[in-house]
Amino acid sequence: MLDRHATLTVAELRTPYQLTTTGQLWLEVLVDRPYPRDSQEDQQLLTYSVPPDLTVEIGDILSVPFGSQVIGGIALRFLENLPAGLEENQVRPVEDVITKGFFPDNYWQLLTKIAQYYATDLITVVRVALPTGLLRRSQRRIRLKPEAIPPGGEVFCTPLSRQILSLLKNQKEGDYSAKYLQEKVKNANYGIRDLVKRGWVESYLEAPKSPNIKQKKAITLLITDFPADLTENQRKIVEILRHQGGEMWLPELAQLAGTKHFKPLIDKGYVVIEDREFLRLSSAIMSRDQPKTLTSSQKQALEAIQTLKGGESVLLHGVTGSGKTEVYLQAIAPVLAAGKSALVLVPEIGLTPQLTDRFVSRFGDRVYVYHSALSEGERYDTWRQMLTGTPQVIIGTRSAIFAPLPHLGMIILDEEHDSSFKQTQLLPTYHARTVAKWRAQLNHCPVILGSATPSLETWLESQVNPSLYLSLPDRIQNRPLPRVEIVDMRRELQRGNRSLFSQSLRSSLETLRDKGEQAILFVSRRGHSTFVSCRSCGYVLECPHCDVSLSYHHTEPGAQELLRCHYCNYGRIHPKQCPECGSPYLKFFGTGTQRVTQELTKEFPDLRCLRFDSDTTRNKNAPRELLKLFTDGEFDVLVGTQMLTKGLDIERVTLVGIMAADGLLYHSDYRASERAFQTLTQVAGRAGRGEREGKVIIQTYTPEHPVIRAVQTHDYEGFVETELMQRESLNYPPYGSLVLIRFSGLDGEAVHKSAENVAEECVNNLGSDWDILGPAPATIMRVANRYRWQILLKLSGEKADIGRLFLPLKSLVLPKVSMAIDVDPLTIE
Ligand code: ADP
Ligand code: ZN
Ligand code: ZN
Repeated sequence: MLDRHATLTVAELRTPYQLTTTGQLWLEVLVDRPYPRDSQEDQQLLTYSVPPDLTVEIGDILSVPFGSQVIGGIALRFLENLPAGLEENQVRPVEDVITKGFFPDNYWQLLTKIAQYYATDLITVVRVALPTGLLRRSQRRIRLKPEAIPPGGEVFCTPLSRQILSLLKNQKEGDYSAKYLQEKVKNANYGIRDLVKRGWVESYLEAPKSPNIKQKKAITLLITDFPADLTENQRKIVEILRHQGGEMWLPELAQLAGTKHFKPLIDKGYVVIEDREFLRLSSAIMSRDQPKTLTSSQKQALEAIQTLKGGESVLLHGVTGSGKTEVYLQAIAPVLAAGKSALVLVPEIGLTPQLTDRFVSRFGDRVYVYHSALSEGERYDTWRQMLTGTPQVIIGTRSAIFAPLPHLGMIILDEEHDSSFKQTQLLPTYHARTVAKWRAQLNHCPVILGSATPSLETWLESQVNPSLYLSLPDRIQNRPLPRVEIVDMRRELQRGNRSLFSQSLRSSLETLRDKGEQAILFVSRRGHSTFVSCRSCGYVLECPHCDVSLSYHHTEPGAQELLRCHYCNYGRIHPKQCPECGSPYLKFFGTGTQRVTQELTKEFPDLRCLRFDSDTTRNKNAPRELLKLFTDGEFDVLVGTQMLTKGLDIERVTLVGIMAADGLLYHSDYRASERAFQTLTQVAGRAGRGEREGKVIIQTYTPEHPVIRAVQTHDYEGFVETELMQRESLNYPPYGSLVLIRFSGLDGEAVHKSAENVAEECVNNLGSDWDILGPAPATIMRVANRYRWQILLKLSGEKADIGRLFLPLKSLVLPKVSMAIDVDPLTIE
C-alpha cells in the first residue's frame, strides 16, 4: 500500500525479523553495560559480526567483547547491512554462545510479534519485558558432562582443553565459573569452545547467589491445643497464632500480641521461629483454605474450562460477587498438579489485596507477585526464579504478561475490560489481553477472560462460539444484586437542597451507624471537576503550561489552600482575589474526593470517613493498609475515585453512593459510554455482598441517559446491544480497527506541520479501506508546554503489518517533533 515509502526511507525500514541464521552476518546484540551511568541507559544495542563457525539464534545469550572486557548479551536481530557510520573493521566478532534456550519456547516470537503489530522496535519491547540488569547480574558457568566423554578421549584434544578438563574434573561437581577458568588458564575461551563443540562440557548462565532475597522471621505454631502450663500472655499469643492459621510474620504477631517476648514458648517447644524468603508477599503468611463446593453454574464453567483447547480464549461473564475467583482457583489447581504454571493478570495489584490473599491461602508459597512497584532487585529475583520452571502462580499487572514461565498452562485476565491492561503513555502501546492471546496460541494453553462487564470486543468474540461463553448469572447464595435508585439532582435543587447529598442519600447515611453498616461514596474523578472560577467575572484559573484548569486542593482546616495541575503537577497558592478583576468571590466548583470528605464530616460529624484516592494511596503499601482499616470497621464511609471499582469484597458495605455520575457520561471519545457503564456497574457491585441487602444511590443531572438506565436495571446485554449497533454503524471497534498517530513538541507550528505532512501522505497512499480523520489538535492541546496533534485512522478490513505501513512516515516529521503510534487506542483525547 505504501510502496512509495519503502523506497523513500529505506533506512527506516527494518529487514524482516529472522529468527535464525548461520554464516557471516551482522548481528544486533542487547547488552547490559557493566557500569551504567543511570538506570535508563544501561541496556544498549551493539552490532557484532558472527564468526562462520558459530550458529546463533535470536534469543541466544552470547558473550561479546566490550572494551577490554567480555560481557553477556542477547542476540536480538540479524542485519543485512551495517548501520550507517559503522565500518566493517570496527565491528568485532561475537565471542561465543553461552546459553541456548534460556528464554521459554516461543518467547522471542512473541516479542517480535508485539514489535511488528504495535509498530515499534524490538528493543522497545525488550525493555518492558526483561528486568534491567538481567545479564549484568548473571554469571556464565561451565559444567562437565562426564557421561559424554569417551574413555581416554582427552588424548585427542588440545593441551588447552586438557588443562580445562582436568580443572573441572578436580572440582566436586565438575563446575566452575568461566571467570575462574579464565583466571587459571590463559586463553581459556578457546579451550572451552572446543569442549562445548565436542559436547563434553556445557556452558550455562546462572543467577548470582542473590544477596537481594530478603529474609524475614516467621513464627509457626507447633501445638494444636492449649497446654496447661501456658501463662495468660502466652495463651493470648497462641490464640492469635491459631486464629491466623498457625503462621505469621514475627513483627506482625509482635504488634498484634503487644509483646516481643516469645522465648518461653520457643523453649517449651510450642512455637518455632525461622527465616523465610521474603520474595512472596508483603503481608502475613496466610492460613490455608480449602476449595469450596461449587455452585452449579461455577461447576459448568469449570468443566467447560477444562475441555478448552490450547490457544482458545473463553469469556467468564459473572455478575459482581458471583464467584469468579473461586473458578479461577479451581481451574488453576490441576494446572499446577500437571507441573505447569499459571499467569493471573489483574488491573492494579495494590488495589486487589483481597484477590492476592485468596490465591496465597489456596496455593501458599507457590504464589508470586510481579509488578512495577517491586524494586529492581525484587523484580530480578522473581524473574530468575520463574525461569526455573517450577509450577507456580504469578499474579501481576499488565507487564506480567512477559513473565518467563517455561511451562505455561493457563492465562487468566481478571476484570479483562479494565483499561489499565493497555499501555498508552509509553511504547509499545500493547494491550495485555491481545498479547495474552498470542502467547496462549504460541504455548498452546487456554486464556480465561473474567469480568462482570466484559469489553465489547470480548463479548462479540465470545458470541461466535457458545462454548467460549461461560456465564455466572447469579451472586453466590442467590444474594440479590443491589437495588439501584436514581436521584435527579435538578429536582433536589428545585426543592432547595443545595448540599452535595440528596435527601435519599442523606437519610441512608443517617441510619448507617445504628445499623452497624458501612458505605462507599464514589466520586468520578480525582480533583478534576474542582476548578476555581470567579463568581464576578467568570475567570477560570488555568495552568500556565497546559490547557486545563487548575484543581483545588485543601487537606485540612488551617492548611495552605493549593491549586494544582493534574497533568504537569504545577502548583500555586490559592489567590485571595481574582487575578482578572480583583473580586474576592473566587470559588471552587465541583466535587472532588476532598470536598466530599469535608462536607461529609461537616454534615455527619458522627460518621468516620476515610479518603481513598491517588493522593492518599501514593505509598506502595498504603492501599492495602487503608482498606484494612476500613474492612476492620475503623471507619464507616470510604470516599474514593475509580480505584474503588476494583475487586473490593467487604461484607458490611450495604450502601454505595455515586456522587455525580455525569462526570463519567460526557467525554469526547467513542468509548465513553462503555467505560461509564462498566465503572458504574462495578462500583454498584460493591454493595450488599454479605448477608445484608445492598442499595445503590446514583445522583445525576441526566437521569434519562441510557447508560444510567442500563445500570439501574443491571441490563448488560441491553446496553451492549444498543452500543454495538452504534459502533457498527460508525465502523468503530470491535468492528473496524483504529490507529492513532500522536505528535507532540514545543513548537506548535512544527507539530501541526508534521501532522499535516503525515496526514497528506496517508491520504495519498493508504488504500480505500482506510478512513483518515484529522489532523486535529488533541482535546487538551498543550500539556507541560508541549503542543499535541493527532491523526485518527480507521480501517474497515483486516489489519496488515502496521509497523511496515506506518514507521516510514517518521521521515516526514520535522526535527524536535515526536511521533508515536498507538495501535488500537483506548482513549482518543
Ligand atoms: P467475583 O470475583 O465474581 O466478584 P468472588 O469470587 O469474590 O466473586 O465471590 C464472592 C464471595 O462468594 C466470596 O466471598 C467467595 O469466597 C464466596 N464464594 C465463591 N464461591 C463460593 C462457593 N462455591 N460457595 C460458597 N462461597 C463462595
Ligand atoms: Zn474576576
Ligand atoms: Zn499543567
